[in-house]
Amino acid sequence: MIDTLEKLVKAFGPSSKEFEVKKVIKDLVKNIDCETDEDKFGNLVLHFKAGGPKIMLAAHLDSIGIIVTDIDKNGLLHFSQIGGLRTSFLLGSRILFENGIEGTVFYEDRDALWEPKEFKIEKFFIDIGAKSKKEALEKVNIGSFGVFYPIFSESFDRIIAPSLDDRVGCAILVEVAKNLKKKNLKFDTFLVFTVQEEVGVKGARTSTFEITPEYGIAVDVTTAGDYTEPKINAIELGKGPAIKVMDGGMITNIDLRERLIKMAKKESILYQLEVITGGTTDAFAMQITKDGVKTAAVSVPTRYVHTQGEVIDKNDIKNIAVLLKQFLEKETF
Ligand SMILES: [Zn+2]
Repeated sequence: MIDTLEKLVKAFGPSSKEFEVKKVIKDLVKNIDCETDEDKFGNLVLHFKAGGPKIMLAAHLDSIGIIVTDIDKNGLLHFSQIGGLRTSFLLGSRILFENGIEGTVFYEDRDALWEPKEFKIEKFFIDIGAKSKKEALEKVNIGSFGVFYPIFSESFDRIIAPSLDDRVGCAILVEVAKNLKKKNLKFDTFLVFTVQEEVGVKGARTSTFEITPEYGIAVDVTTAGDYTEPKINAIELGKGPAIKVMDGGMITNIDLRERLIKMAKKESILYQLEVITGGTTDAFAMQITKDGVKTAAVSVPTRYVHTQGEVIDKNDIKNIAVLLKQFLEKETF
């Protein structure tokens, strides 16, 4: 699964430009016995036809990023955010564009560097090494998308990389797809790789509407607050799948959540409960589509979400893949 994750992290895919990530996934699942389909909005759907209620598992393909808004006479690029990119996370970051061009992020106002609270996105710029606007225009334009340069590292039990949100969810769904035994399935199962989550959980809306599942589970990252004392929340790396109770957008379905907890206990999988007050996932859109979907979410505890160096624990992601597979093959209604 780690090799899969590395491939997914290195694929270019900010919101609306998820093509490369999709290509990697299609290639990884090409020998699996399931129906593969892509909807009009761009979501990739793997359907494992079976009896039982319809269930949809969702992980998003897209990452946060930047979009070029203007190029000045010196060839420096001004930009805006795609998704929830905090300006204070940007300084000194390396940016990769779709065509392979790289740049480094800096800030116009040198005095403000000592007062980071004052940072304004308009004053950041990307230096791609161009000496003039004309030269810059040979490689980028207004509307060019960039992402954090994808450096993927394994260290101790941990992985350090950008865009683990939510390529790790995609890697988990690919792992589930590879390991599922179709004859054991207790659900008519849809694994959905969604587009444009970071700009308003959009792919989850259209795909949930089309599939009309009875149950939904989003697989995404959640902020682990375990790197300071006192902790900012109860979530810790290495303490297992975080079964979501609530986030900034939703409260999960009690019945489905309890079933996931019971399954984790039965299978002796270490788990933790997640309550966070900010942010949300595809589960938010799934839950309130059509006449409603019983929706839960399983999260990968992640430090420093939406930075160039997100950190996760390998054991957590293995355990999530096992929990989801067991759930799909063993849960009874
Ligand atoms: Zn996410």
